[in-house]
Amino acid sequence: MKLDMRKIYRFDAVPRAADGALPKGGDIYYECGSCKDIVSSVSHIKAACSCGNLGGGGGTVAVKSPEQVTPLRGKLK
Ligand SMILES: [Zn+2]
Repeated sequence: MKLDMRKIYRFDAVPRAADGALPKGGDIYYECGSCKDIVSSVSHIKAACSCGNLGGGGGTVAVKSPEQVTPLRGKLK
């Protein structure tokens, strides 16, 4: 069963760096623009969004289409 991150965290949009790079950090999450799944930007467990655009694990996330990703800051509710 998939964990619904939105039930645990409140998410706020985070601006990208000037060069378009996605921010990264313990409280930064990526929302996939296609399937709307959310994956931690520094996921240590294996995590992927439903459509495969985001694939995390080992403390990093591989992003196939960065322009389709919205960076968010997550705070525990
Ligand atoms: Zn996706």
